Amino acid sequence: MTVNLLDFDLDGLAAFCDRLGEKRFRATQLFRWIHQRGVSQFDGMTDIAKSLREKLGSVACVKAPAVLVQNISSDGTVKWLFDVGGGDAVESVFIPEESRGTLCISSQVGCLIGCRFCSTGHQGFSRNLTVGEIIGQLWFAEHFLRQHQGTHERVISNVVFMGMGEPLLNYESVVCALRVMLDDHAYGLSRRRVTVSTSGLIPVIDQLGQDLPVALAVSLHASNDILRDELVPVNRKYPIAELMQACRRYLLVAPRDFITFEYCMLNGVNDSPEHALELVQVVLQAAGTTTWCKFNLIPFNPFPASGLTRSPSEKVLQFLKILSDAGIVTTIRKTRGDDIDAACGQLAGDVRDRTDVHKRIARRRTIMVKSESVATLPGRREGVSG
Ligand code: SF4
Repeated sequence: MTVNLLDFDLDGLAAFCDRLGEKRFRATQLFRWIHQRGVSQFDGMTDIAKSLREKLGSVACVKAPAVLVQNISSDGTVKWLFDVGGGDAVESVFIPEESRGTLCISSQVGCLIGCRFCSTGHQGFSRNLTVGEIIGQLWFAEHFLRQHQGTHERVISNVVFMGMGEPLLNYESVVCALRVMLDDHAYGLSRRRVTVSTSGLIPVIDQLGQDLPVALAVSLHASNDILRDELVPVNRKYPIAELMQACRRYLLVAPRDFITFEYCMLNGVNDSPEHALELVQVVLQAAGTTTWCKFNLIPFNPFPASGLTRSPSEKVLQFLKILSDAGIVTTIRKTRGDDIDAACGQLAGDVRDRTDVHKRIARRRTIMVKSESVATLPGRREGVSG
């Protein structure tokens, strides 16, 4: 059985080389060939001794997940469906903009959290991705795009963990992959340009702050606990006020001076002026000021099983105005890659649900989220089961 070198950060690769009787500088050479130059065949690593190349050829490989489908949108957005074996697939999306190129990657096959408005959450959970499967998405995308664009320059400047999965539930692998992304011998990305997005797992947010603070985005999606319990079930364990305090703690070590709150606009569910005003209070109560966070309002991409619809643009603009007038920097996420179904919430590769999350969500669908009055929502608090 060969070892996949995409599974290693530089220290891991150095330990592997040590086991082969090779010095650390060999690991650095290998790391650069693999990540900076996209070389997967040891024969092509010309400054490495032939004997070592032959040895590596028999015990190691450089193997990203295979591409099942690749779609390129007219706006330059590229979506890949990667085969991760066992009938499972995950997706990544590259979004080009004038001043940056962002790759949205997956960290798990499916997701245990089961957010109401998320198509991945409705599919259930299969397994965590390995480091090689996470970093393999970046490795493949970066080197494909360089070739596609005919450049030797870096194409991907930003990475966001906003594809399939809750990254903080696959912590060790995600942190190892982050180390590779940030390593100057690999991709050399700035900590400010790598964003981990979480549903709000407070102890792991604190842990990330200690281990490797990168930019943080939090999927908030509701202005009070009753509503968030329903939309993002992990809220039953980690309610909003405590989550806000965790965000404040994270800011002490974060590479940026704000936390981004993601807010998916759901028609008649969380999009009224009252909800916006309530959010302002939540932000104010956490810090006495509104300047420590940004809001990103996300137009919902409807899918049949959700029973939810997209907020009309007038409501989104009204919502934005209330937050902006209160001093909160607020943006509306542009939809990209519509012609290839690459927009947010449409990351839906095939998942072999091994945890019955989808059944739990289907049961919850019988509790309809009612419109303007959040008081009509069920308020039962219970332990989070994943
Ligand atoms: S929004 Fe994120 S955390 Fe929630 S179900 Fe979807 S992938 Fe999981």
